[in-house]
Amino acid sequence: MLSVEEAQERILSFFHVLEPEEKPILDALGQVLAEDVVSGFDIPPLANSAMDGYAVQADSLRGASPTSPVVLKVVGSVAAGQMPRDEVTPGTAVRIMTGAPVPRGADAVVPFEDTDEADRRDTPNGLSHIGVRVEIESGNDIRPAGQDVEKGQRVLEKGTVLRPAEVGVLASLGRERVRVVRRPVAAILATGDELLEVGEAYDQGRIYNSNSFSLAAGVLRYGGVPKLLGIARDNLDSMRSKLREGMESDILITSAGVSKGDYDMVKDVLAQHGEVAFWSVRMRPAKPLAFGVLTAPDGRAVPHLGLPGNPVSALVAFEQFGRAAIYKMLGRTRFDRPTIQAVLDEPIYNTDGRRVFARATITKRNGVYHARLTGHQGSNLLTSMTRANGLAICPEDLPMKDAGEVVEVQLLTWPEEFV
Ligand code: AMP
Ligand code: MG
Repeated sequence: MLSVEEAQERILSFFHVLEPEEKPILDALGQVLAEDVVSGFDIPPLANSAMDGYAVQADSLRGASPTSPVVLKVVGSVAAGQMPRDEVTPGTAVRIMTGAPVPRGADAVVPFEDTDEADRRDTPNGLSHIGVRVEIESGNDIRPAGQDVEKGQRVLEKGTVLRPAEVGVLASLGRERVRVVRRPVAAILATGDELLEVGEAYDQGRIYNSNSFSLAAGVLRYGGVPKLLGIARDNLDSMRSKLREGMESDILITSAGVSKGDYDMVKDVLAQHGEVAFWSVRMRPAKPLAFGVLTAPDGRAVPHLGLPGNPVSALVAFEQFGRAAIYKMLGRTRFDRPTIQAVLDEPIYNTDGRRVFARATITKRNGVYHARLTGHQGSNLLTSMTRANGLAICPEDLPMKDAGEVVEVQLLTWPEEFV
């Protein structure tokens, strides 16, 4: 039997970072930069005001106080987006709005609140002069040019995952498009004579193909592009033609046909198109797993991840292995699922030395995460997965984790986003 880590390592060794593509910055959200982004100019482009107020020479305000304000002559005004026309000299000021470039001669801005602007506005002379009630330092409320980004600076590094902030930075540089690692296409194939496709009339004795949809949703969630191939029936011809379609992708993900009894047919067909190994992984659910590499007609190697058929097993194995493969192809560098620590509200039993991923509802009480199991842990019970926002882990070498003990939990969804 392989440990989860050994299985993951072997699988990942067959995946590589995909080639870059160029696309509009908004479409690239969640993708990984395939270029260093360098700025062609300063941001802000010019020194500008951090406040609505008056641009002055700090020296003009020596001795100013609330009881004896210094009165300056107002020689002009400047708004954001305008270039200042007037120069500030000793004893003068230019009215300035937030973001407007600082006029020549000025070395500081004094905010409206520190002036008598409110008292003067409605007087006959209006704002021809302004009284300032404070002394200020040179540089006060001025944002220097290039404070955020300097011309020639590498602002975003190749390998960065694009989040809203990075998309915003690209826009601040005037970039419309960006080079990112392309999204992997994951072909998804269900196998089994008992399966009905959604939309088909209910037929007693058969079950709807849910795996293709939960797995495709998982692929989408982690940044891949799912390609639904439908259902391969339990016969050689059906399997063969579906596999051919599956090779037009970056990864083929199948479900079912990896437990004993189904082995042979799937194995035979896969073996004709490449290599496949059937593994037992020391985990519960999802012990049986197939992994192989198919050779496409054009010679490309297409990795094949063969997940178990039971719906919970398929999803839990996808979370451990499929997600990591997608992340690697996307150019991300951390593949292990992040975990939190939680206090168990009830025990998890481990009867046969496998790592147990117990479906759990995680809540936060008094600042501490708690894990409560979602009931019967049968791997066929898909709705038990809908009540779970985490997988609470009992390590393979422990017979149980008792109520009150702290366990590691892979969060499927943050508790605050699960309600
Ligand atoms: P198998 O590996 O073919 O023995 O399948 C194991 C279990 O998973 C059986 O109960 C199947 O009916 C079920 N199963 C297989 N494929 C799917 C699917 N696509 N959707 C839902 N259940 C499935
Ligand atoms: Mg089957």
